[in-house]
Amino acid sequence: MSESKLSEGKLIVVTGPSGVGKGTLLRRLLELYPDRILFSISATTRSPRIGEEHGREYFFWSHAEFEQKRDANEFLEWAEYAGNLYGTPRQAIDQAIALGHIVLLEIELEGARQVARSLPDAQRIFIAPPSMQVLESRLRDRCTDSDKQIIKRLHHAELEVAAANEFDVTIINDDLEVALQQLEKVLFHD
Ligand code: ADP
Ligand code: 5GP
Repeated sequence: MSESKLSEGKLIVVTGPSGVGKGTLLRRLLELYPDRILFSISATTRSPRIGEEHGREYFFWSHAEFEQKRDANEFLEWAEYAGNLYGTPRQAIDQAIALGHIVLLEIELEGARQVARSLPDAQRIFIAPPSMQVLESRLRDRCTDSDKQIIKRLHHAELEVAAANEFDVTIINDDLEVALQQLEKVLFHD
């Protein structure tokens, strides 16, 4: 294990509407702190986007595979989102925390609520957009989702933004660098 490990690991849940910039922020964090941060790799039944790889962004499982693992209690949490199933495999998380890593789960609202119930010590961060208009432009400019998907995602976003007060901290991702600094402060100094 890396010598730069922390003496104490922790679980951090990062939630926020699709398109708000969670992935962008978390990729930057990983570049800055490759030895301290571990991302949990989720499983999903959605199809890979261009450039996504099985085992890197997600484990892309069939519905049947996902359900079989869910029924075997292999997920810490799982939820349906915009017509697909998403879940956090338990394996590796407990071990990584015990080894002193900061483990990040980037998950939607229902999953974050499940983690709050099962692991109340996890710190929960909400990433909010500056406005719903900005969120919609980010989703459209990303060019990864169909119009139908974007509408579903914006609908979900309203519900998620309304639940921001359930989280320990809210960070508004307007200027990326400012949001990144706020995230670093929460992870390493709070
Ligand atoms: P999420 O992971 O939350 O779905 P992404 O990280 O894919 O969101 O970001 C959605 C889009 O918004 C991407 O095209 C990304 O480059 C852009 N983006 C992210 N953060 C910002 C920001 N602070 N300002 C402007 N554009 C941003
Ligand atoms: P996307 O399809 O854009 O990659 O992700 C859609 C949504 O699913 C995002 O809000 C993302 O945070 C969430 N998500 C990704 N992995 C998981 C997971 O393991 N569990 C839950 N509950 N949500 C997830």
